[in-house]
Amino acid sequence: MSASLPVAGPSRVWRAAGGEIRADRRVFGAVLLLNVLAAGAGLVAPWLLGRIVDTVKTSSGSSALSTVDFLAVVILGCTVVQIVLSRYALYLAARFGESASARIRERFLGRVLAMPASTVEHVPGGDLIARGTTDVNAVSGTLRGIVPDVLIASVQALFILGAVLVLDPLLGLCGLGCVAVVAVVLRWYLRRARTAYLAESAAFGALAEVLSTTVGGARTVEALGLQARRTEALEASIDVARRTRLRTLWLRTVLFPTVDISYTLPLVGVLLIGGALYSHGTVSLGTVIAAALYFRQLVGPVDTILMWVEQLQSSSASYARVEGVACAPRAGAFTSAEPADDRIEVVDVRYAYEHGSDVLHGVDLEVRPGERLALVGPSGAGKSTLGRLLAGIDRPRSGAVTVGGVPVAGLAPERLRRQVVLVTQEHHVFQDTVRGNLLIARPDATDPQLRDALAAVDADWVDELPAGLDTELGGAAHRLTGARAQQLALARVVLADPHTVILDEATALLDPTTARNTEHALAAVLQGRTVIAIAHRLQTAHDADRVVVMDAGRISESGTHDDLVRNGGAYAALWRSWHGD
Ligand code: ADP
Repeated sequence: MSASLPVAGPSRVWRAAGGEIRADRRVFGAVLLLNVLAAGAGLVAPWLLGRIVDTVKTSSGSSALSTVDFLAVVILGCTVVQIVLSRYALYLAARFGESASARIRERFLGRVLAMPASTVEHVPGGDLIARGTTDVNAVSGTLRGIVPDVLIASVQALFILGAVLVLDPLLGLCGLGCVAVVAVVLRWYLRRARTAYLAESAAFGALAEVLSTTVGGARTVEALGLQARRTEALEASIDVARRTRLRTLWLRTVLFPTVDISYTLPLVGVLLIGGALYSHGTVSLGTVIAAALYFRQLVGPVDTILMWVEQLQSSSASYARVEGVACAPRAGAFTSAEPADDRIEVVDVRYAYEHGSDVLHGVDLEVRPGERLALVGPSGAGKSTLGRLLAGIDRPRSGAVTVGGVPVAGLAPERLRRQVVLVTQEHHVFQDTVRGNLLIARPDATDPQLRDALAAVDADWVDELPAGLDTELGGAAHRLTGARAQQLALARVVLADPHTVILDEATALLDPTTARNTEHALAAVLQGRTVIAIAHRLQTAHDADRVVVMDAGRISESGTHDDLVRNGGAYAALWRSWHGD
């Protein structure tokens, strides 16, 4: 069952954005100041052009000519100042955006790493990947490029409106009318856009999930003939994604044409009202021209704001998804208590997967140090679940799983791996050197210790690698076969040196070729440790010190192989049928 990750509410997103500004408040303040100065310089040109018109109209001769020349030079100077200030503001804003996006990326990674392994496993992988890539990229791109642009445009628009209002209040009202129309449409748009963009992101996340699970399980799909079912699921996801995209497209088709019309309105207004006022002699021709020029100038910043508001909206949806990761459950606080001994105890443990009912119903079990225990039972009995609780991956819903009296799941990873390690098929090879791959298990291990661990699991092939322990593994670098990757994982167990190993045979020995190659290595790893084997081969149960039979989330029988066969219960029946007598 997969639980979806939460999405942060608007207030949390605002708080996060505010936090980014506070984190870099000096640079942000400088950006604002430079923008104000640049916008101020930008206001000079239209006003002086108006003055030039009035000068030409009212006076003539060489004095008029020199005034016009002087004003033209001032216009040129102000334009240069505006360009220089804007460029520097943009540079600082981009720097602010770069550091903010680096912080967001690091925080995202930190939060995902802080999640309990069980949460990461249970959330849809596609969703988490989409949040960590597409969404983080969208937020970073916006902070780097769009937020600075919008900031500059907003300051310019405010200054231009202010300038026209000072020039002539009546003409200024025309501009305000234009802005009001844009604002009303924008409000209509924004009210619908957040939900629409969230739905769009979620739909594309779901599509990525369907795609990645289909590709990841391609062999299974082919083997079980599930192509038609997967295609159906894919088409359904594409359909949902298409519908959500069409919805956001529709919102844009209303927004943009309305905005285009509202641009022309103030210009028409200025020409009509300005013309009437001029003919009555209330305003000068220069003032009308300056106002008209200001409105032409207003189009630029308003256009920028509108062009990006949509992007801002979709980025804020992305931001909400990125921040949502912070609302996911975190790994509980780790205990500092030291286990008194190596004894593992399970007391009245109940466990339920998220949104599910209990799959373990009061399990009690005590494992003696050095004991070899085999867990057997039908599929779905709860063996793997118990294995995960014993390995500290999940916490019981009630009851306790302890090692030396300390809850296993409460031990920090570096302390836990000295106690209990779960061995499965998931022997991940990290994109790092052989040494790096091994040091994960014991960061302070020396090279001779690493070599001993490799020798213990028969991994002598490491010496033949091009750079020995320094050979890069994974990705495009050196690829390991399944058997070698498992040996590497087993060498990590040797290095971690836990007193107890939980062995999930179902997955640890899935591949017969790998199994043959690593059986000896596995035996070496288990030597001298407590072993709790989730046994899928009855031979394992036969060889164990004790067999625990699980059925429907409970322990139904427990004893040595011989005792259980003598008692004639479920295990005896299983053993007889396996033996064929
Ligand atoms: P076994 O290892 O004995 O086959 P499991 O521990 O895998 O049994 O499963 C016990 C029960 O828990 C089953 O009913 C199974 O469907 C359920 N279960 C196992 N894994 C999950 C999971 N990730 N989410 C929800 N239910 C699960």
